[in-house]
Amino acid sequence: MTYNKPKGTRDLFGKELQRLEAINGMARDFFLQHGYTEIRTPTFEFAALFDRSIGEATDIVEHEIYKFETKGKGKVYALRPEGTASVLRAVIENRLPMPQRFLYIGSMYRRERPQKGRYREFQQIGIELLGESRPFYDAEIIELGSRYLHHIGSRDFRIELNSIGCPRCRGQYRIALEKFLTPHLSNLCDDCQKRFTRNFLRIFDCKNGTCQHIYDDAPKITDNLCAECGEHYEQVRNHLRGFGVDYTENKKMVRGLDYYTRTVFEFKHGGLGAQDTVIAGGRYDLLVRELGGADTPCIGWAMGPERLLLTMDDDRPELKHRRTFYVIAIGEKYMDQMIGLRDQIHGSGNICMLGDPGEPIKMQIKKADRVSADYALILGEDEEREGVYAVKDMKTAKQEKVLIAEFASFLVRGMGRKD
Ligand code: ATP
Ligand code: MG
Repeated sequence: MTYNKPKGTRDLFGKELQRLEAINGMARDFFLQHGYTEIRTPTFEFAALFDRSIGEATDIVEHEIYKFETKGKGKVYALRPEGTASVLRAVIENRLPMPQRFLYIGSMYRRERPQKGRYREFQQIGIELLGESRPFYDAEIIELGSRYLHHIGSRDFRIELNSIGCPRCRGQYRIALEKFLTPHLSNLCDDCQKRFTRNFLRIFDCKNGTCQHIYDDAPKITDNLCAECGEHYEQVRNHLRGFGVDYTENKKMVRGLDYYTRTVFEFKHGGLGAQDTVIAGGRYDLLVRELGGADTPCIGWAMGPERLLLTMDDDRPELKHRRTFYVIAIGEKYMDQMIGLRDQIHGSGNICMLGDPGEPIKMQIKKADRVSADYALILGEDEEREGVYAVKDMKTAKQEKVLIAEFASFLVRGMGRKD
């Protein structure tokens, strides 16, 4: 009897996990520099938290949440499908003062159809700025996303921006949209017919070509904002120009969660197919109140690092893995030298494993290969006499002698280069 992992999940190890961890590590450093500190919340919560925050009529809550009940008390839990609701729950529960800047990194769970860049357990890196309402911060948080992507070596993305207003603008707008849609209703897909009665802005999220064609000519929320939301949106665009961030406006972008107000945005990557959004977010000024807290304007976004990594080559210097050395001493009398060498390699930030000096050299070389070392470092009698280490590049099988005195600079420059 053998066991398989559940559909849409992955086992991460080796280079793939290293790349993911490199992205996470760079996110921690980068956002910490901007005052964002890490928050870790449980991977499961009471299901009601997500029903309330994400919205009962959204795809996530209707179809994608993993819910479970435990024996006894009849409480319903859910694996978290996203991070924002939990962060807000934690902020309210722990009575944290405002403003706050948070970074979270962790697994999210959605029962979606698995495909390239879409999994049932996936990672998100997210930032949330809580307690700031000013449009300057909408622009700043977008700029942070853009600069982070540049920082990790991702280039080919574009930013789409929209404003979906507040309940006040939506009331007026709904009437205009209904008037436009009435003659088209029978041509809309079943989902859109339902969406229109339950959560009308979401019709714009539809993937159906016929529906989208109709919506091209529909009035847009962006053109029907109330005075305050209109002013806010204009300020956001001004500040984005101030930050030097390029964006395009997409009046049909409304996002898949119920809680957004005013600014919404997505970062799309040119190198991805249908799943091309790498960062998505927006402002959610009403959500803290909705979850039982005080009025607290907030803005944030979430990124899918796995999707992002699909767009990045292995040899980007930003993701460069540390090199792995396997030290092969021929005979136990080289123990001290071997340990010194290991410490020197560790000191340079690289990885070092030790062969057992009592084992035959052939066997040690074989093991260096099995653990995927980049280099085997050999020290035996010949090397001792000449004052060198023999360095074998395990990929090319090329071997060169490096003077012991020059080994420190070898660690920096690598094999085959003399400069
Ligand atoms: P999509 O339109 O791709 O379904 P979404 O609107 O559901 O995205 P959000 O919930 O805002 O996306 O999530 C933010 C980011 O998290 C996405 O842009 C994406 O990079 C990543 N993400 C979302 N769902 C998945 C998934 N199932 N697998 C991998 N990454 C995901
Ligand atoms: Mg989705």
